[in-house]
Amino acid sequence: MRANGRQRRTECGIPWRPLALVGLGTAAGLAVYRRRRASPRWRLLEQQGASDGDGRGAQRRAVVLGAGFGGLTCAIELAHRFADDPRTEVLLVDRHNYHLFTPLLYHAATGLVEPSHITYPVRAIARRHGFLFRESAVQALDLERRQVQTDDGPIAYDALVVALGSQTNFFGLSSVAQHALRLKEVPDAVAIRNRIIDAFERAELEPDPERRRALLTFLVVGAGATGVELVGAIHGYIFSALLDEYPGVRPQEIRIVLAEAAPEILRGLDRELAAHALREFSARGVEVRTSTPVRRVTPEGAELGDGEWLPCATVIWTAGIEPVGLVRGLPGEHARDGRVRVERDLSLPGHPEVYVIGDAAHCQLAPDAPALPPNAPVAMEEGRHAARNIWRRWQGQATLPFHYQSKGELISLGRHQAIADVYGVKLQGLPAWLVWRAYYLSRLVGFKNRLAVALDWSFAYFWRRDTARLEPQPLATAGSVPHEAACTAHE
Ligand SMILES: Cc1cc2nc3c(=O)[nH]c(=O)nc-3n(C[C@H](O)[C@H](O)[C@H](O)COP(=O)(O)OP(=O)(O)OC[C@H]3O[C@@H](n4cnc5c(N)ncnc54)[C@H](O)[C@@H]3O)c2cc1C
Repeated sequence: MRANGRQRRTECGIPWRPLALVGLGTAAGLAVYRRRRASPRWRLLEQQGASDGDGRGAQRRAVVLGAGFGGLTCAIELAHRFADDPRTEVLLVDRHNYHLFTPLLYHAATGLVEPSHITYPVRAIARRHGFLFRESAVQALDLERRQVQTDDGPIAYDALVVALGSQTNFFGLSSVAQHALRLKEVPDAVAIRNRIIDAFERAELEPDPERRRALLTFLVVGAGATGVELVGAIHGYIFSALLDEYPGVRPQEIRIVLAEAAPEILRGLDRELAAHALREFSARGVEVRTSTPVRRVTPEGAELGDGEWLPCATVIWTAGIEPVGLVRGLPGEHARDGRVRVERDLSLPGHPEVYVIGDAAHCQLAPDAPALPPNAPVAMEEGRHAARNIWRRWQGQATLPFHYQSKGELISLGRHQAIADVYGVKLQGLPAWLVWRAYYLSRLVGFKNRLAVALDWSFAYFWRRDTARLEPQPLATAGSVPHEAACTAHE
């Protein structure tokens, strides 16, 4: 383009026309790249008009319930195995449209990461790998008619994978269910963070020493991996961030208690590593009370097993999990913890077309072996294996038994401390902490989340943690308080 015989230029002297061409070329290239990134199978589904998950164009359908670690891995594996088969539809169903990275949930609860940075939209993953997704809450399973009832209507299936995870187990203690906080979903993490910040805000204004003491006492119940990591993070949050911002609160007023009903913490872990965690906590002044069950919780405090009353405004329950009601209602034998016993190929006994995986499944690799623990690597391996067996059945081949070899444990204690048992190599202190951070950063779903969490951590490390009270969002509220209601209503 010329004006007055001269090429028009930007203020920096760059000619407009080549600049516009470069801009247009980049935009077009990006558009093509984005289009290419969607799998060929996805484009096929779009052309067939089957992307709403109603089965048009497909002759058989594998339905996966739950977009957690097990379900998501299973749906991706199924989509890859049936990538060249347009007759087969893979449909993933979850009540949330995001995948939650639970191992960093307690970082969201203690101002180390932004809650939105540990969730990832499932539809983006579905598009990339070529499966369908539906955001619906599952209400019932009709195994005879091969149908799943959801709040958006029924879904028929030819193969079903139940990966609905677990919920907090309060062991029938209604006062605990009513007054203690839990840590299972994003809104729970926001609620914990807000409760800790509220306690400091109120303590600043509270003249009565007894009342201040209760406000500044934090009780975590359950010394499994989640409870131990949470206690370490709460200690870090208080001592490296909140005390600086609340000058009216003195460090001596803080009391952090970890109560465990069993005689030891971190059951199942190497004893030397567990002892390191105990030493570390005692050096920081965290009270670890073993053989101390919590019997009752009120807004004022908690009653411990020996009748002792602990005044405290914050009680967080991490003492156990149980399968959701839908899983408890499945036919067949259930273990004492409610998980349904599955065959060696992960199918539900008597229903070779139904697979149960992850926290919902009680899977023993040998008759006298202990059940596999409810954790993310087990759920993911089971998800991959269930997909493989569905594929084999539909190829007319026999299904294969599941095998699993644990790679170890990584547990952060906060403040540059962690314990790790990786392939039998035991680490503690700073090296374990670095391994922990590197491992979980690499396991996060999506480059954007990895970058965001790395920045959150760096920001918290070199500058300060976030101490702003987060207003519960409508979505968060819908998932937190009514979570229980949802479980009752749907299961
Ligand atoms: C705070 C915390 C920290 C953890 N840290 C670790 C760790 O560091 N390492 C580790 O290995 N494991 C950890 N775990 C355990 C790990 O998260 C679970 O073992 C794993 O998520 C189990 O996978 P899953 O697929 O069975 O279930 P989940 O990952 O829980 O997924 C279940 C899915 O089902 C969906 N769902 C449930 N009910 C319905 C319904 N009615 N309708 C529709 N959708 C439904 C849920 O929304 C969810 O997306 C942690 C767990 C928690 C809570």
